[in-house]
Amino acid sequence: MRPTYLEVDLDQLKTNLENIRAHVAPAKVLVVLKANAYGHGVDGVAPFIAPFADYIGVALVEEAIHIRSLGIATPILVMGGTLPEQLPDFFTYDLTLAASSPDLLTAAEQLAVSTRKRLKVHLKIDTGMERIGVREYEAEPFIEKSLACSHLDIEGIFTHFANSEVASSPENTSGDEHPRNDMVSAALQLERFEEVLSIYEKRSEPHPRIRHTANSGAILSLPESHYDMVRPGVLFYGVYPGRNIAKTIDVAPALTWKSKVSYSKVTLPGRGVSYGSLWQADGAVRIATVPCGYADGYFRRMTNQARVIINGKEYPQVGRICMDQFMVNVGGDDVKVGDEVTLLGAGITAENLADWTGTNEYEVMTNISARVPRVFVSGVQ
Ligand SMILES: *Cc1c(COP(=O)(O)O)cnc(C)c1O
Repeated sequence: MRPTYLEVDLDQLKTNLENIRAHVAPAKVLVVLKANAYGHGVDGVAPFIAPFADYIGVALVEEAIHIRSLGIATPILVMGGTLPEQLPDFFTYDLTLAASSPDLLTAAEQLAVSTRKRLKVHLKIDTGMERIGVREYEAEPFIEKSLACSHLDIEGIFTHFANSEVASSPENTSGDEHPRNDMVSAALQLERFEEVLSIYEKRSEPHPRIRHTANSGAILSLPESHYDMVRPGVLFYGVYPGRNIAKTIDVAPALTWKSKVSYSKVTLPGRGVSYGSLWQADGAVRIATVPCGYADGYFRRMTNQARVIINGKEYPQVGRICMDQFMVNVGGDDVKVGDEVTLLGAGITAENLADWTGTNEYEVMTNISARVPRVFVSGVQ
């Protein structure tokens, strides 16, 4: 196997799920497995975690079909935008549709009539994300239409928060002279969702049996958002969705990204290291080369900022990160070909990589490319 690989601790993922479940009970848990299980590798994560999940959430129909191909029968909600021509796949693979417009709902009902199959549907309400969904102020005719769709099982109704990972305090603490008055709080979105639910009450109709709103941020900080089900993504993977959010649930990361030194030599001053010769040593230092680069998702933006661990000690990455390799300054230490390198884990966090890259933890994890083999470990194998 390639010396550069990702180790995924499945037991840790299960512990994270159990801790989330204990916090939100009796609400159900939809485990978000989109984007290759946030980079962890859906082929290993999905079969392991499915028996413990009430629902699986993905962004794309294609992701859902792939999970079905792994032999998983757990209900799967396709949360993202769906095109009408993708609707037949929902019937073929028994997927749950996020109905984000009246037109999509009508198309689904028509297909259910013609195929004589029932389809599970969750109504998608947009309470402030302005991405997909029917806005709360236009929800009444949408709900009315859904009540008339007798061939669909309108199982759920949901919305998605735009800012659940930031402190919900409305006052401007940023020191910015132009405060973001327009930043919609999760609390306000929840009020709008409640307004929509009251449409059912007004009509003496039962609301769909699974109401859900909470992503990781809201699971942690907004108990009144848990309803009948929660949708943890990043938190399930053991990473908190914001730096200042209260860590009301104990979770830990499951990823360790490892490699091995592929080359070790002493570099002299005056010899620039890597493309652009952006770094050179002040004196003779040992430079270790690691067979991993930006094509693996080790972002080029981290050049001269990243740090790695070799033989238990932290060292700075130096010189441009290449497509397939990067260099590390190990100073005067005796580092040899084959020594283990840790790029993520053992004290180096997804937050660190995000800071070095100028992005968030989500982007770091989901960009670890398919070229990096995933090794799934579990004590209960
Ligand atoms: C991705 C996603 C989630 C999970 O978000 P996290 O912040 O990772 O918890 C939940 N709901 C929807 C609709 C999503 O698209």
